[in-house]
Amino acid sequence: MSPTSASTATAIAEAVRSGERSAREVVDEHLAAIEAREPELHAFNLVMADEARASADAIDRARAAGEQLGPLAGVPIALKDNLCTRGIPTTCSSRILEGWRPPYDATVVQRLAAAGAVAVGKTNLDEFAMGSSTENSAFGPTRNPHDTSRVPGGSSGGSAAAVAAGFAPLSLGSDTGGSIRQPAALCGVVGVKPTYGSVSRYGLVAFASSLDQIGPFATTVDDAALLLEVIAGHDPLDSTSIPQPAPSLRSELGRGVEGLRVGVIRELTGEGIAPDVARRVTAAADALAVAGAKVDEASVPAVAYGLSAYYLIAPAEASSNLARYDGVRYGLRVDASNSPEMMVASRTAGFGDEVKRRIMLGTYALSAGYYDAYYGKAQRVRTLIIRDFAAAYEDFDVLLSPTSPTTAFAFGDKTADPLTMYLNDICTIPSNLSGDPAVSVPYGVGDDGLPVGVQVLAPAMQEATMLRVAAALEASR
Ligand code: GLN
Repeated sequence: MSPTSASTATAIAEAVRSGERSAREVVDEHLAAIEAREPELHAFNLVMADEARASADAIDRARAAGEQLGPLAGVPIALKDNLCTRGIPTTCSSRILEGWRPPYDATVVQRLAAAGAVAVGKTNLDEFAMGSSTENSAFGPTRNPHDTSRVPGGSSGGSAAAVAAGFAPLSLGSDTGGSIRQPAALCGVVGVKPTYGSVSRYGLVAFASSLDQIGPFATTVDDAALLLEVIAGHDPLDSTSIPQPAPSLRSELGRGVEGLRVGVIRELTGEGIAPDVARRVTAAADALAVAGAKVDEASVPAVAYGLSAYYLIAPAEASSNLARYDGVRYGLRVDASNSPEMMVASRTAGFGDEVKRRIMLGTYALSAGYYDAYYGKAQRVRTLIIRDFAAAYEDFDVLLSPTSPTTAFAFGDKTADPLTMYLNDICTIPSNLSGDPAVSVPYGVGDDGLPVGVQVLAPAMQEATMLRVAAALEASR
């Protein structure tokens, strides 16, 4: 499962561009890997074997015709199944979208195709990206490739497992409260949540619009940077898109961390963090110090309230976004004698328990008389978190924390009590609330031999510095 240098996206694209390997040969190899292990792992809701072979053949023909190939030429990629793909089922792992085929491609899907990437399938997730284990998928969970009795994390568990299992060197996920970074940590791969607004969300099925971001999974920091360069940059189709071109990231990775100020977040390294995970964060901080960084303790006091604020803001936005599934416009319809009854019947049959719980929590938080006490207060806490991060970044270039409080847990461990499941996101949620970028880098294993991820956080639009630190950690393993 550890990446050989020939299996990275950068190596594949180079080999395909130079003609050393055909895109078809590369995709066939990955489809064979999928065939061998997918029945056991269930990383995909849909494997797009025919489409993948056809786009690989088109790349090989383009090369034969002397055309210039893109930066991801012939590189297989797996797409989270909440990204719209034209004419191809997009389910969000929910019954309510049964039979729906989007009439358009998400901007990221278009950019990938233009860069020569080959989409191999749509990956499993917690229904509408609500969850931390993929156990909320209507189609059954994904298993962790490192230990199939454990969850892969979530909600982008399928995308993380696909990369960890070698089904594709790259995948895309979405991160609203940690859904890229937490499964990346649990599956031992790199996962990036970019700055809010830096990657277009046009064609991402909305969960909580002020928090959602699309981002890469990869086996190396270099590959994640390559993918981010391809998908980032302004898109007029997303009104929250930052009007700036994609930053140059890969060229910065080798610069080292000499003189960089690194702060270990005090509030996210103590209580609630498993000792074996905490030890890996200390080891990461020590490694950065050895590499020349100035490492110290940092304080971001308001992050302690992140989880509480998130579980008001995210459900509130979700309750509004999910109102569109009415049995008329998309997917599932359960017939009844009149329209209101049809809508209730369709939503009752179409949504799973966790989605219903979020819709109820969100509707309550937004209801007249409670709005100020819950939603309004949560927004004020959000402002405090933004201010505390800004204050910390006066003293530090990047911050460090665990990604997830524990390594991968067993199926069923946290399904009985939603709160214990929610606690998984304690370290990742603050960056969604602030809009700042963060990356999870695999950094050794816990007492159970399973991967531990260390999180590097940075101020908005500072992905280059953030990934430089991630690359230094990767090199120090
Ligand atoms: N686990 C968190 C939730 O359930 C975050 C999900 C996400 O980032 N999409 O809301």
